[in-house]
Order: sequence, then C-alpha cells, then structure tokens
Amino acid sequence: MPAAVTRSLADDHPAARLRGGEILPDPDFSLLRASDAYLVGIRPHREGGVCLKLDDELIPSRHGSKFLIHNYGHGGAGITLSFGCASVVADHVATLKREIRRPSIAVIGCGVIGLTVAAELRRRWRNLRITIYAKDLDVRRTTSFVAAGQFEPSGICAEYESEEEKKILADYLRRSRDRIMELHRSSHWHTYGIALRRDYTLDQWNGAYDECTPHDVVPQYRSGTLPFAKLNIIGREYRTWLINPTILLPQLVAELKRSGVRLRKRQFASRDDFAALRESIIVNCTGYGAKALMNDDDVVAKRGHLVVLRRTLPKQFYFFSGGCGNRRIMYAFCRHSDIVVGGTVETGNDTEGIIESDRARFDRILANARAMFDGRPRDCVTA
Ligand SMILES: Cc1cc2nc3c(=O)[nH]c(=O)nc-3n(C[C@H](O)[C@H](O)[C@H](O)COP(=O)(O)OP(=O)(O)OC[C@H]3O[C@@H](n4cnc5c(N)ncnc54)[C@H](O)[C@@H]3O)c2cc1C
Repeated sequence: MPAAVTRSLADDHPAARLRGGEILPDPDFSLLRASDAYLVGIRPHREGGVCLKLDDELIPSRHGSKFLIHNYGHGGAGITLSFGCASVVADHVATLKREIRRPSIAVIGCGVIGLTVAAELRRRWRNLRITIYAKDLDVRRTTSFVAAGQFEPSGICAEYESEEEKKILADYLRRSRDRIMELHRSSHWHTYGIALRRDYTLDQWNGAYDECTPHDVVPQYRSGTLPFAKLNIIGREYRTWLINPTILLPQLVAELKRSGVRLRKRQFASRDDFAALRESIIVNCTGYGAKALMNDDDVVAKRGHLVVLRRTLPKQFYFFSGGCGNRRIMYAFCRHSDIVVGGTVETGNDTEGIIESDRARFDRILANARAMFDGRPRDCVTA
C-alpha cells in the first residue's frame, strides 16, 4: 500500500498518534534546576469548596462598620480559579459601592488570590483606594509561587458534587477563561507567563476536566497514541493553559505598584484585628492562614512536593498529568524555563519547609515520572 494511503488510514484510526506522529522529547530527569530544585507547599483546601462571599456580619470599628468579603480555600486550583474569583469579588464591591460613600479597599494577602483581586479592582475602578496587607510582602514566599501552574480545577472539583454546585465552579472557570482571553488580546500578553499547552494523560477518567470543566473552557479531549518514545500507549490530549506563577506574580506586583496600589507588611491574629484598619471593605485572601484567622475548621492542609528540572529543548512544551496507570499521582509540566514534576498530597499536614522525610518523597516522585516516560505506567508507588 502506498505510504500516503497508509498514513491517512492511520490518521483516521482512533489509535493514530497524537500530534500527527511527532515524538516529543521526554524530560531529562537527571538535570535538576541549579537552585531550589526541591519545593514543598501547603494547598489551602476547603471542604465544601472555596469560601467566596460577602460576610453576613459587619466588623464594628471606631472608623465605622466594615464589610468583609472572603476569597480563600482554593486548594490545588488557586492559580486556575484566581482570575474568576477576583471577578466575583469585584461584583460584590460594585454592589457595596452603591451603599458606601468613597469606599476604600484592604486586600489581605499577596498570593495569587490577593494580587488578582487587587488587579481586577484596579481594572474596574481607576481611582479606588486599594492597599494590600500581608504578613510577608515577598511573593516568592507564598504558596502561590510554589504552584506548578496548570489550569485545571484539581482537587477542588470533588467539593462541587451537585449540579448546582458544579454550575458555581463552572462560573469561576469561565470567568477565569474570559480574563485570560482578554489578556491574550492585550499587547503585553507575553509578560504574564501564560501559555496554551497540550496536556497528555493516560486514557482514563480525569474528573477535574471531564466532570467539572465545561467544554467551552477546556475542550473535549482527543484520543490517540501518546506522542512519546516509550510512553506510546493510547492516551488523551486536552488543551489548557500554563499560568506560571513565578512570572505572573512579580508582573502583577509591578503593575499594581505602578497603578498606585500600596503594599504594607502587617500580620493579623484574628478577624477582630481587621477593626483597626482604616479601609471600609476588607477582602480576606489569606489562603491557609484563613483557617486560624477565621476559625474555619473546613480549611484543610494538603501538602505537596515538587521536583524542578531544567527545560533544555524547545519541544518540551507539553503537560503530562492525570496520574499513573495504577491511580498513583504523577505529573510533569513543562514551563518557560523549567519542568516541574509532582505527585504528592499529604492531607492534614501543614509542616512548612522541607524536612528530612521529604527527601525520600522527592526520590519517589522522580522514580514515578521516570517509570511513566519509560512506558511502565503501572509501576508508580505512593510518593
Ligand atoms: C505543590 C503545589 C502545586 C500546585 N499546583 C497548582 C496548579 O498547577 N494549578 C493551580 O491552579 N493551583 C496549584 N496549586 C494551588 C495553589 O498554589 C493555591 O491554591 C494558591 O496558591 C492559593 O493562593 P492564595 O493566595 O490563597 O494563598 P497563598 O499563596 O498562600 O497566599 C496567602 C497570603 O496571605 C497572607 N497571610 C496569611 N495569613 C495571614 C495573616 N494572618 N495576616 C496577614 N497575612 C496573612 C500570606 O502572607 C500570603 O501573602 C498548587 C499548590 C501546591 C502546594
């Protein structure tokens, strides 16, 4: 049979290789990033889903009563949901602005949630007085800076069970998508560290995409043979975004400063401490900090580990997610200049920083990723 005919038959067949037959280069698992190759972070998960609402109770103070809006508990999906949730906060502020004369805003927290809230408020109201307060103003020390940056409602999806709840999550995702598309159309799109990526998975159920993400946000997957040399079994290809927090966060801080948003170092021990602030509207974006601050027992730490490799080849521009063939967690995300390899979720552990027992976990993460790209998807262990 002539080659052209063979090729067209293969392309029509469901097992045709994704990317039209092109083989993408595996990560080089021996090339660790020169500094900070090992990372841990605490995902601020919340049972029942993100707390995103105007608090029923006002905060009394000598400067007058204050309104409190919450935006915390995004778990493993804060980067994904940040733009969308910021737009919901801005809607609340729009409503409050009708009641308050000359409102001013205090955003508590300078992770991705606080920064996107401040950015959205500034976008909507050029002259609104906005101050960001955080116990540490160095964004490199937030959980957000550690995040891998894949656009997918991982982890949090399970908290949105009913159809009504799923609609709420879908609304956040659509709002995030809309803002990303707007940024895409802007002249400084390239400064945000956002890129469209193909995400490959094994041919198995990926709840966060298949059940929680509308197809107008992340389209239905394509099936075919995975485009890797040894991992060449049937898999799926999704299209989603990489939102690299190591680029996005500093960019947002620079823009906010230029637009007159002030950043102040300040720690709050409890909700009562907000009374001392001068601002009339407070937006609580304290991530895992909200557990203690708000006495919210629904906030649960989900500690995660990452190993960061060097990206050496231009064609290392894909994601691999969705776990191994034996349901163990494994992912590898190629970013702008590095590749993050992950796969742990330690529920209830809020130990900050790296401790001795983490070393073995980092080794297991790398071993699992190697097994996958070697074409042994059932050989992963619990990292
Ligand atoms: C290993 C790992 C991988 C991840 N990968 C992804 C991913 O691929 N995609 C994705 O969408 N998400 C991912 N996430 C999740 C994401 O990182 C979080 O959901 C997100 O960072 C939460 O942002 P945040 O701003 O709420 O919290 P943080 O970044 O923790 O920021 C909280 C802010 O509040 C301040 N603060 C806290 N308490 C107080 C207080 N009492 N007083 C004053 N200030 C206070 C802190 O100083 C900080 O500025 C990942 C997380 C981890 C750990």
